[in-house]
Amino acid sequence: MTARLNDRSRKPNSNAPFGVRECQWCGEEFAKRGGSQLFCSDPHKTAFNNLRKERGAQLYDLFVALRYERKLAAGLKVWSLICTMIAHFREEDRQKRSGRRSWMPARTVTERRPYLFNPLRQARKGKKS
Ligand SMILES: [Zn+2]
Repeated sequence: MTARLNDRSRKPNSNAPFGVRECQWCGEEFAKRGGSQLFCSDPHKTAFNNLRKERGAQLYDLFVALRYERKLAAGLKVWSLICTMIAHFREEDRQKRSGRRSWMPARTVTERRPYLFNPLRQARKGKKS
């Protein structure tokens, strides 16, 4: 029972048996082969990542403007545009994907990019570049 309680692969309210996970793309249940497997098949993993690429590309230029063209971004209310865009993506998830999340957990993103926390970056904090 302890293993089941600690199994982070299951959705909180899922009735799926231990070792079974809902595919993050199609929503079908599948027997997971690895601890971090999120998809029932490679094509569904690819489809999920392609959706993220498409949405990320739409957001990228706005985020760069926020960081490097601050006056322009403020004038155009870029942060508000980003939030609106994200709300549209989420609504699309609700309507077309039964509400399944279309993003990776923030913890996964930070774990895959340890360089974001390296001492060199911390040392440069406060210096204008
Ligand atoms: Zn699937």
